[in-house]
Amino acid sequence: MKYVSTRGRVEPISFKDAVMMGLAEDGGLLVPAEVPKLTGADMERLRNLSYPELAYEIVSLFTDDIEPEKLRDIINRSYKVFDTEEVIPVVKKNGIYIAEIFHGPTYAFKDIALQFLGNLFEHILQERDQQLNIIGATSGDTGSAAIAGVRGRKNINIFILHPEGRVSPVQEMQMTSVPDENVFNLAVEGTFDDCQYIVKSIFADLDFKRQHSLGAVNSINWARVLAQIVYYFHAYFRAAENGEKIRFVVPTGNFGNIFAGYFAKLMGLPIEKLILATNENNILSRFIMAGDYTLQDVVATHSPSMDIQLASNLERYLYFLYEKDTERINRLMETLKQEKGIKFPEADVKKVQEEIDTYSVTNDETVGVIRDFYNETGYVLDPHTACGVKAGLVHKEEFKTVCLSTAHPAKFPDVVRDAIGEDPDKPEGIKRIEGLEKRKVSIDNDIEKVKAYIADNV
Ligand SMILES: *Cc1c(COP(=O)(O)O)cnc(C)c1O
Repeated sequence: MKYVSTRGRVEPISFKDAVMMGLAEDGGLLVPAEVPKLTGADMERLRNLSYPELAYEIVSLFTDDIEPEKLRDIINRSYKVFDTEEVIPVVKKNGIYIAEIFHGPTYAFKDIALQFLGNLFEHILQERDQQLNIIGATSGDTGSAAIAGVRGRKNINIFILHPEGRVSPVQEMQMTSVPDENVFNLAVEGTFDDCQYIVKSIFADLDFKRQHSLGAVNSINWARVLAQIVYYFHAYFRAAENGEKIRFVVPTGNFGNIFAGYFAKLMGLPIEKLILATNENNILSRFIMAGDYTLQDVVATHSPSMDIQLASNLERYLYFLYEKDTERINRLMETLKQEKGIKFPEADVKKVQEEIDTYSVTNDETVGVIRDFYNETGYVLDPHTACGVKAGLVHKEEFKTVCLSTAHPAKFPDVVRDAIGEDPDKPEGIKRIEGLEKRKVSIDNDIEKVKAYIADNV
């Protein structure tokens, strides 16, 4: 399988090169040149596989440059660290299915892709005898999952910038309690946007980037989307009969998680519709309801991992919506840059609405859903999942619905306590890190200081 850019200005490259490139060199996003299609007979064959076996079958459709045994080993090691053998349990509560995609080491769904990406990076770097220095900004979940994915690996260093005092205490412990010498936590005096701005500026300095072999781990990396396609199949097999059309509800920020679902549908998974759930940062809801993709200021909500405006993965969706018209994508992205927004024509919006429906959920509604769902079922939702469940309950009588549960409630105990009057149960992996020593460096909100720190420590 070859990979091409949504902007059409990169020669087709191999899977391994696509993983190492991250963002396409023309500024676009890498996508597979073809969509592998699965038949009903394929589905029958995949239905009863264990999660790692299923992951191998799906992932290997997209990779022809890793030996099968090696790929199996990478996948097995990635999912062995999950706290349940099922990897992703699917439970039925109150008439909807909930796929718990949060059982990895840091209890948010980012682990599913970042464990895989960590093992993949290690394999490619060893083979090529290269070194990689990962730099990333986080509002909490991506940083902790990325650190868990690469800690202790010989040929990788990781530098994660987080806004000092603005990540949750659990997220801070997950990042800073890691003792491995290849992990560097930079606590920036500023906001998440400041951290993101510093990281983008460092990547824009191509000399510095090359000199220090810098790499990224955000969801622009195709390997992250790829790993996420797998659980749509897994959850489908647990909830539906072969051929049955069902809905998936996806709590969404950067459009990464839901894009994986869209891709699963392109491959032939019978998804009636994807339901995109957002919080008060509703740019994607405005896009779907009215074709209005205009950037606004980010507001802080109870579901901080979805407090995002610019949804980078939307570009991949637009590429398929516009039937691989890369010139059109170039024009759209130029408009976005110039005018801080895109207005889509009504005919295109109709097409989007045939595939995706959307709900934007307020803070009060989030707390209300956590409370009501707990009272009715005894099951505790995290605030991101609550946005999805709020949307999923609307049409549960008409459509079989799977809600993706993106984080363990113990990662966001304050909101949960507000809603149900008690703390959510803590999983072992969170209890284990309580009270450990924190390792972090406080650093000014200053690009040059961050660069100097990286240069000194690679
Ligand atoms: C990252 C994250 C999301 C949003 O996922 P995207 O891929 O950015 O759409 C939702 N919930 C949780 C808990 C997350 O960590």
